[in-house]
Amino acid sequence: MSPWIEVRFLSYRFQLDEQAFGGSRYPEYLFALLLFLAFAPLHAATVIRDVTVIDVTSSAARPHQNVVIEGQKIVSIGPAIPAGARVVNGRGKFLIPGLWDMHVHLWYKQNQLPMFVAFGVTGVQDMGSDFQKVSAWRDAIEKGQSIGPHIVTSGPPVDGRASDDEKLPVIAARTPDDARKAFDKLWDMHVDFIKVLSSLSRDSYFALAEQARHWDMRLEGHIPISVTAWDAVEARQASIEHLFGVMKSVSTDSEALRFFEQCAAVGTRISPTLVLWQRMAHIDDHRLKNDASLKYVAPQIRTSWPELKEEDADASKEEVKGIYRLTGLTTQTKVEVLAGTDTGDPWTIPGSTLHDELEQLVAAGFSPHQALRAATLAPAKFLGWEESMGSIEKGKLADLVLLDANPLEDIRNTRKIAAVFVRGRYLSRLRLNQILATNAHD
Ligand SMILES: [Zn+2]
Repeated sequence: MSPWIEVRFLSYRFQLDEQAFGGSRYPEYLFALLLFLAFAPLHAATVIRDVTVIDVTSSAARPHQNVVIEGQKIVSIGPAIPAGARVVNGRGKFLIPGLWDMHVHLWYKQNQLPMFVAFGVTGVQDMGSDFQKVSAWRDAIEKGQSIGPHIVTSGPPVDGRASDDEKLPVIAARTPDDARKAFDKLWDMHVDFIKVLSSLSRDSYFALAEQARHWDMRLEGHIPISVTAWDAVEARQASIEHLFGVMKSVSTDSEALRFFEQCAAVGTRISPTLVLWQRMAHIDDHRLKNDASLKYVAPQIRTSWPELKEEDADASKEEVKGIYRLTGLTTQTKVEVLAGTDTGDPWTIPGSTLHDELEQLVAAGFSPHQALRAATLAPAKFLGWEESMGSIEKGKLADLVLLDANPLEDIRNTRKIAAVFVRGRYLSRLRLNQILATNAHD
């Protein structure tokens, strides 16, 4: 409640009581009012005091900073603490930018959205879902009616054939003309980018990519089976998901390095989604089955998942090694990597699975700083939002995660969340626990 509403509420109560009790309670209410004004200053600002700020642009850790937040923004970082500011104790803690999961599907009911935030994920890129539904959720979040991450969404992906998955509506384009019509339809819907799937024909893909280039719309997604990874880069596909198209198109390390340098040169990003590969190859089923955070996924969703069968796996395990090798090789080039999970798929947990991806990026050869960057600065630059997010700087949005331990020393420390700020809104550990508790199912 805002202080003004509170004051008016008190004076209203006072009038009622005056009538009822002949003014006998007047001093009591006046006292309450004074007490309220004395102890509930208008919090013009919030300060995270004496915190170590992790600079994702340089990997520096800057201790003893006071980060001041007003409204939705960071207004200063340094020694000053404004009078009357609400203080959040940052001593011994570490502050990172809000995390982005750059490959999710928002298929399920709205109460999954607060979970992303509860796990420090303040932004998601939705790679295919029902556009109307996601738009409505996004509106509610942006109006402050519900808690959730920033959302960018493709709406329905474009593919060469209709979808047999009712959660994933697609626009089927069998010819170049269909592809151009699909582009117009998505443009009119005001989607944020176009997602392409695997079965688009070569001609249709190039027609779609040409429209995307012409109208300056990002084309993201799979590399269709009909084209090579080199074709996709040539066509200026903005991001390549899952790396499988790259596996097919490069046969040696030196060719892979040349490919990633070419991606860097034209601005194509790579989203390896290593956790997806782990799930497909059943590499760590035991951990997936025993993840304590599974209780936050509604039973209706969990029961729709296929059972994990480790014996199905062996054939793809070698392929996954190749994917990890490719992911590691990206660090020897300037290509930007985006952290993504395919959350929405079976055996994913909104928000939590992003931390698994960060851990896998490190397993593939990233430094903790490079993994953090793939979920913070790299997404912000990719979306063209570097001015307002991606790092902790004066003037940027206060999307922040306060950690109990240093993520540059051990990437698993991104899970040790003491508080989250999303658009300047402070969510204490207590509040985050409440969000999780309302989503917990036994
Ligand atoms: Zn996906």
